[in-house]
Amino acid sequence: MKVVKSTTTVRELLDEVRRSGRSIAFVPTLGALHRGHASLIDAARSAGDAVVVSIFVNPAQFGPKEDFSRYPRDEAGDLALCKRLDVELAFLPSSGDLYPPAHATSVRVQGLTDHLCGPHRPGHFAGVALIVAKLFNIVQPQRAYFGEKDAQQLAIIRRMTADLDFPVKIIACPTIRESDGLALSSRNRYLSEKERCRATALYTGLCAAQDLARAGERSALRLVDAVRTLVTAAQPTRIDYISLVDTESLQPISRLETTALMALAVWFGDTRLIDNVTLTAAHDPRAEFT
Ligand code: AMP
Repeated sequence: MKVVKSTTTVRELLDEVRRSGRSIAFVPTLGALHRGHASLIDAARSAGDAVVVSIFVNPAQFGPKEDFSRYPRDEAGDLALCKRLDVELAFLPSSGDLYPPAHATSVRVQGLTDHLCGPHRPGHFAGVALIVAKLFNIVQPQRAYFGEKDAQQLAIIRRMTADLDFPVKIIACPTIRESDGLALSSRNRYLSEKERCRATALYTGLCAAQDLARAGERSALRLVDAVRTLVTAAQPTRIDYISLVDTESLQPISRLETTALMALAVWFGDTRLIDNVTLTAAHDPRAEFT
């Protein structure tokens, strides 16, 4: 496995890969890799492409009061995992290389950032869109892999990729969870033992909404309430949002018609966790007669 810090060297090495006729599969990450990231790398490898993983704690996607400085970093562990998973090239760019002092360009995806995490993390998705656009230009992959755990990020990347004509196929990978349902996240390690226990309420709540939807409930108010009741019982420090939104536009909806995204962001102590599930409306037998 090649470990590369310089943008120029990555371009040169990947030019060689392309010249040899191989496709490139790309998995961008912030590092502190876990089984969720590994599942993306596995999916990327299974397509037979040369797998490139980037590890970069992108300052542009953290707000001034967010956890950039304490975000977990584990370069040695990350590289060992990448090597075990047959990654061809690990790209560890430096901030200075990616953000020259005079940089002045932003990438904003409108509409999709209006709800969910958008209002709670101003500037976050512009930071994500900018870094992913830059990494796409440097790595020039044929395929790029993103987790459904970050559903809003995934929708924004899809939109940006189409709008800016990147010739990259975006592949969504399912959320990997602990055995009690908690979605794997690099931030889970911030949780105290008690907070970790209480955090299982997020997925329990989302599953309750899924059960209700399967049983025929279509009111967004009642579906959201079901999640809120279970999450509130776990005494979170704060609930940023629990929302039912359209899977593509990410705009709030009042009724579940076909499928919709139930998404939440909840704090336990100083740790902000996000999660989501897709709800599918139960088949309505009356619909056949209308
Ligand atoms: P991050 O390092 O948190 O920016 O995540 C890098 C990629 O891994 C993103 O596409 C995430 O959506 C994805 N990811 C993070 N956690 C999980 C998980 N539990 N299951 C699947 N994918 C994940």
